[in-house]
Amino acid sequence: MTSMQAAVVNKLGEKLSVEEVEIPKPGPGEVLVKLVATGVCHTDLHAAEGDWPVQPSPPFIPGHEGVGEIVAVGDGVTDLQVGDMVGNAWLASACGVCEYCRTGWETLCEQQQNGGYSVDGSFGQYMLVDARFAARIPEGADPADIAPILCAGVTVYKGLKMSEARPGQWVVISGIGGLGHIAVQYAKAMGLRVAAVDIADEKLELARKYGAEVLVNARNEDPVEAIQAKIGGSHAVLVTAVHPDAFGQAIGMVRRGGTIVFNGLPPGNFPAPIFDIVLKGLTIRGSIVGTRQDMAEAIDFYDRGLIHPNVTTRSLEEINDVLDELKQGRIDGRVVIGY
Ligand code: NAD
Ligand code: ZN
Ligand code: ZN
Repeated sequence: MTSMQAAVVNKLGEKLSVEEVEIPKPGPGEVLVKLVATGVCHTDLHAAEGDWPVQPSPPFIPGHEGVGEIVAVGDGVTDLQVGDMVGNAWLASACGVCEYCRTGWETLCEQQQNGGYSVDGSFGQYMLVDARFAARIPEGADPADIAPILCAGVTVYKGLKMSEARPGQWVVISGIGGLGHIAVQYAKAMGLRVAAVDIADEKLELARKYGAEVLVNARNEDPVEAIQAKIGGSHAVLVTAVHPDAFGQAIGMVRRGGTIVFNGLPPGNFPAPIFDIVLKGLTIRGSIVGTRQDMAEAIDFYDRGLIHPNVTTRSLEEINDVLDELKQGRIDGRVVIGY
């Protein structure tokens, strides 16, 4: 067999085309993975629509939450073999020698490649993965269930660490989508108290199920006033929402000295009140996925039974419907494509 089915972006802003493409061959340091499942991240939608200042170049295959079995190994791969279960990641590779890579910030490497963006990803029956950056899937893990950990999980886990919130403190999770519903679970597992903000009651219901103590529907009430009134402001806010409004609101939700971490990446800007930021001593930071070590830790939380993604399985043929539903905010939890 030399060809496979894949969902390809041939032109930014157009529907993906499910077509036959050649199965790639693993080069030095790479493994060829036969996919079993892949999560669909909102980033895949941003990629296909060309939403961001740095755009991907079509044709390309999106997807960076893929899980499958290694079926071929390139030269020089020493610690993975045929039959091992691995995943791909947004951080498909980094240079390993720059200042960022040397100081534990490989996620900031300027030479990095990104899964499903600058290199082909997991929306196909096979994919190539750099063996050094392949996520190691623990034995016995259900591929569809663990797939969302590979981007949503590691991203929010790292984001929560960057929030510096300590056990017993409050964190607001703003946006209870693919990332956010998993963030509620990591936050609980890390001993934090959770307030959830979204614009849809079904999403808030999911947050409640996972242990959020305070729920705010930003469509019905002012989320800044609600969070200040209900918990006196939060020690930290993690924004995973896909609307710029949520970013400005986050600044109003923290207590003095609080930290706001941005994970969400909607195109656009938001107003940032200088006076409040200075006088309240706020920290605002961006956080992008996680390092390989963050990934191993995020997977370990999952492996210990602390994280249960809400997963709905669909087929690759349905990818355009899934992306449409994601755009309209109609997906609760994560959609995973099963192969
Ligand atoms: P998603 O579509 O599953 O979830 C987005 C959620 O935001 C939905 O629940 C939606 O109802 C909610 N929302 C929309 N407007 C809102 C508002 N005004 N206030 C509060 N909530 C609102 O998307 P996802 O897969 O969870 O991804 C979320 C964002 O994170 C995307 O922009 C994605 O590109 C980005 N992302 C960033 C990283 C990173 O490393 N920083 C990693 C993965 C994804
Ligand atoms: Zn992602
Ligand atoms: Zn580097």
